[in-house]
Amino acid sequence: MSKSEELMKLGDQYFLHTYNRFPVVLDRGKGVNLYDADGKKYLDFAAGIAVFALGYGDEEYNNALKEQIDKVIHTSNLFYNAPAALAAEALCNISGMDRVFFTNSGTEAIEGALKSALKYAYTKAPSDDYEIIAMEHSFHGRSMGALSVTGNPHYREAFGKGIGHIEFAAFNDFESVKKKVSDKTCAIIMETLQGEGGIYPAEYEFMKNVRKLCDERDILLILDEIQCGMGRTGNMFAFEEYDIRPDIMTAAKALGCGVPVGAFLMTERVAEKSLSPGDHGSTYGGNPLSCAAVLAVLKEFKNKDILSHVRELSPYLTQKLDEIKESFDIVTDRRGKGFMQGLEFSVPVGNIIRNCRDEGLILISAGSSIIRFVPPLIIEKEDVDHMYGIVTKVLQNL
Ligand SMILES: *Cc1c(COP(=O)(O)O)cnc(C)c1O
Repeated sequence: MSKSEELMKLGDQYFLHTYNRFPVVLDRGKGVNLYDADGKKYLDFAAGIAVFALGYGDEEYNNALKEQIDKVIHTSNLFYNAPAALAAEALCNISGMDRVFFTNSGTEAIEGALKSALKYAYTKAPSDDYEIIAMEHSFHGRSMGALSVTGNPHYREAFGKGIGHIEFAAFNDFESVKKKVSDKTCAIIMETLQGEGGIYPAEYEFMKNVRKLCDERDILLILDEIQCGMGRTGNMFAFEEYDIRPDIMTAAKALGCGVPVGAFLMTERVAEKSLSPGDHGSTYGGNPLSCAAVLAVLKEFKNKDILSHVRELSPYLTQKLDEIKESFDIVTDRRGKGFMQGLEFSVPVGNIIRNCRDEGLILISAGSSIIRFVPPLIIEKEDVDHMYGIVTKVLQNL
């Protein structure tokens, strides 16, 4: 048995079976490449599900973490710590929000966002039947609250009624949203660019109309930027393109580039009527190590001018994906923005992803018929060419 096979056998024996894992044991990474336990090299176009924006082994980032480990890793939120205060300032500055709460994951950021919206409505007029409108095909996470606003019935069906008081509207269909709005509506939640649901960007007019509706009725707009934020579309946050600002937003995934950290943020106007002492908390949330990661990520984004790089190179990625679409009949659509792109196929994509992996390219799906391209944001032109070469070869041999 190879080293990889031994480790896979061990995992299969002891892990709770919630994932059908790829038969690869990843061992280490360098730049945009990953290596398995037997030394095989892969070009990574998945980035640990849109997480590792800086690529693997970024020196500044690694050193910042090592330094923080030697100082202090955890303090609890009963005290202040420097990385948390500095990361809070930095994150508010780049997002245009005023207040932040750090979490340990995306799903917890969604929980906090939902609680914030409910508390805001409650402060205005105490009631226990406020409703939240979410979008079909959305994905917001796996905890009971986040699951309750996830518009994929298959993920929810075994887990009862969820938190209740959720209405689903059709994404990019303003009439559908309008129909769901009532006097009980306190918030509308959506991803600015739907990820797991199939790489669907919000349309400009749709976003503007939802924002206007929210303003007219004092409904809070919650934008989930967990996957599409942090530079992935070429803006720090995907909503910047729409000339609007959310009332509450969430971030995670690339926020810590691998160290578990998420955040929900809000404007001062919301914060004044929202969560107050005793309403929310987290033992780990905002600990010095995860906040040192956030600070290091934001510093490297600046040093390496990641946003300009994404803007400069993404038209080339788009062009190559369009070429794939033109060349193969089974590719029916290309969608997305920046380095968050999807190719839709008329067939299930499992085989294609497996064959690409055998050729040394890591890809992931978004649903059964869409391949998602969410590489580290530091990929270069030759990495796009390398990806293109493998994908076209695999499709030719299908
Ligand atoms: C991944 C994701 C989440 C959940 O984040 P976790 O860190 O897995 O809990 C929520 N929303 C979106 C849009 C995501 O892509």
